[in-house]
Amino acid sequence: MKLVRFGQPGQEKPALVDRQGRLRDLSQHVPDIAGAALLPEPLDRLRRLDPATLPEVPGNPRIGACVGAVGKIVCVGLNYSDHAAESGMAVPTEPVLFLKPSSSICGPFDDVEIPRGSEKTDWEVELGVVIGKMAKYVSEDRALEHVAGYCIVNDVSERAFQLERGGQWDKGKGHDTFAPIGPWLVTADEIEDPQQLDLWLEVDGKRFQDGNTRTMVFGVAHLVSYISRFMSLQPGDIISTGTPPGVGLGQKPPLYLHAGQTMRLGIAGLGEQQQRAITAP
Ligand code: ZN
Repeated sequence: MKLVRFGQPGQEKPALVDRQGRLRDLSQHVPDIAGAALLPEPLDRLRRLDPATLPEVPGNPRIGACVGAVGKIVCVGLNYSDHAAESGMAVPTEPVLFLKPSSSICGPFDDVEIPRGSEKTDWEVELGVVIGKMAKYVSEDRALEHVAGYCIVNDVSERAFQLERGGQWDKGKGHDTFAPIGPWLVTADEIEDPQQLDLWLEVDGKRFQDGNTRTMVFGVAHLVSYISRFMSLQPGDIISTGTPPGVGLGQKPPLYLHAGQTMRLGIAGLGEQQQRAITAP
């Protein structure tokens, strides 16, 4: 099942994507694709609906982030060994974690802001893991039972803010629009193996990132279990699992985003995103 949210920012409504790719309105069946609606039972209820009986969404509405009311985005740094190498950092022995604030979330086709004073705004295509069932001290072999589904996250990053301004990475990770999420939340039953997904990113049609989740240092099950030892993961929380090589920082010489450029990114089975970079208002 592919779940989406459509409509103006802050007023998105829930829908599913039918076999023909049309949006079918779920407003009569669930308040939002968020929180408790992501638990196994409510998702099963949506799965049993016949999409043909749901009203078709007219026109071409804006698509919002595929999960609403996200409590937190837990990000994993340097989780592909070749990305660690291009960043000039060692492959970590334990997952590196940082948080992106929920205020950084935007829709998968919204404009991405280049912050004031930024010269090093960068891209990172990542597999997003959406938590369904609360996870606290879960074992690795039961970890995937807590996953509602998967989505694309662009972990947009300002490298000078992240690495040259002292303290933690969060400074370079939290600007508004630095977390485009979606277009779809694809439920876990449709993803046979989250460690076998191609993922890629292009800027103005030039491919920079071309990887596969099989080369993650720490896989999804390990990450859910690991994070749950430090903080509980709540329904609707998202783990962004790290990026493969090919970010701007890793180019020789480094290359960063400018206003007017367009990022396009995708993950096999999870759809595509596209964002235009603009100067922060
Ligand atoms: Zn990242």
